[in-house]
Amino acid sequence: MTDVVLDGVDKVYPGGVVAVRNVRLKINDGELFVLLGPSGCGKSTILRMIAGLEDITSGDLWLNGVVANDLQPRERNVAMVFQEGALYPHRTVKGNMLFPLEVSGDDRAEAHAKVHELARALGINTMIDRLPRTLSGGQRQRAAIGRALIREPSLFLMDEPLSSLDAGLRTELRVEIAALVRSTGTTTVYVTHDQVEAMTMADRMAVLRDGVLEDVGTPEQIYEDPATVFVAAFLSSPPINLLQATLWAVEGEGLLLDFGAQRLLVPWNDPRASSLISHHGQTVTVGVRPDTLMPIAPGSPAPPGTVLSGQIRALEFHGHEWLAYAETGILTVDATEVGRPAAPASYEPERPGLLDRVRALIGRPAPAEEPVEEHAGHHRRRADLVFRIGAGERPNRGDHIALTVDFERVLFFGADGKRVNPVHRAPAIPKPKPREIHSHEGPRRT
Ligand code: ADP
Repeated sequence: MTDVVLDGVDKVYPGGVVAVRNVRLKINDGELFVLLGPSGCGKSTILRMIAGLEDITSGDLWLNGVVANDLQPRERNVAMVFQEGALYPHRTVKGNMLFPLEVSGDDRAEAHAKVHELARALGINTMIDRLPRTLSGGQRQRAAIGRALIREPSLFLMDEPLSSLDAGLRTELRVEIAALVRSTGTTTVYVTHDQVEAMTMADRMAVLRDGVLEDVGTPEQIYEDPATVFVAAFLSSPPINLLQATLWAVEGEGLLLDFGAQRLLVPWNDPRASSLISHHGQTVTVGVRPDTLMPIAPGSPAPPGTVLSGQIRALEFHGHEWLAYAETGILTVDATEVGRPAAPASYEPERPGLLDRVRALIGRPAPAEEPVEEHAGHHRRRADLVFRIGAGERPNRGDHIALTVDFERVLFFGADGKRVNPVHRAPAIPKPKPREIHSHEGPRRT
């Protein structure tokens, strides 16, 4: 069993691509740890450095309390599964799973018993004598996982193992993989760009952007209490509303969030008031998840400064609810832009197109669907405020709406994209207990 520490790790590829910047991270013994982030953020590079397949440019990698920067991959007792689980095409499933044991000279009878046991746990025991090309993508991936786990590695690394499978199979396999690796107690690092996979599988997870660690915590911590705008936006479906406001501390009234077209008032007794006050006169980003907005009848009595209003522009029916997109006249914030290093000197902000100039000349405004506003060199769409409506309702496009805001669940971010108030992280969770494996032959306990 192994814990993993990355201590100030950087990776610069030949040619100067900085893939990983000063990553500090501890992955606990027995944890299922997920590295999450958009394509190109450095997830695979971190995994490959842990495996020893990629050199570390600077900083240290510790495996089980030993600096491992210069250890050969085979000295690390690490097993890895990739997107396309590479199997030997001329060996059966059994042959593939036996291979690592043959190489290490294990007792033959014992090795066969081990393969059968693991194949049962993976639900591939009935196809153990088949060649890889006769298997479905999901079955091949199970066989690849079996081959990786058969050696009982100290550390199990998985690089987007489900991304080539269809959605149904992905859901099924992610449950099984999580149960299997937990039952073995093997420390596992799992790379994905899929927030649902990360949230449902991880004991803890790290969110990366541009090679930088933006947040680390349990899925609940990161969802409820994200460290940055980028993390809040990456982990949100339906999307979080990121609204741009100027904050004013108004004596006797509260903290006024001035959205230009609308205003909200955070009461003085809000626990974050003392952090917010230092942003007096500054631009802040107000993060409002759709389930934080509650529709009320327009004109209904509500305390002042607690309601946003608008007009429904689009509706989506999702069976259990409607998602409504309202025009509110509020500027939204692009989470991918906030907190990034400044644009290079040669950067030219986008200029209005010919069509916009013609419209301006003939006095016709841009269409209502896509109004844009220039701010600090960027064009931004005016807000489409996303909110939920119960499935039993009959909303219509064009309806005027009013929404009360549950301030307790609203998130505030400064101009640098970081949370205004400090995020809370409980200490890393203790080692997970063994759980049931659900093989195709029903659950068994280890
Ligand atoms: P992810 O796994 O998050 O998609 P990667 O770790 O594969 O990201 O890549 C991170 C960055 O490093 C990307 O900009 C990618 O283009 C670059 N990169 C990855 N591998 C190499 C390489 N062998 N040589 C040069 N650049 C690389």
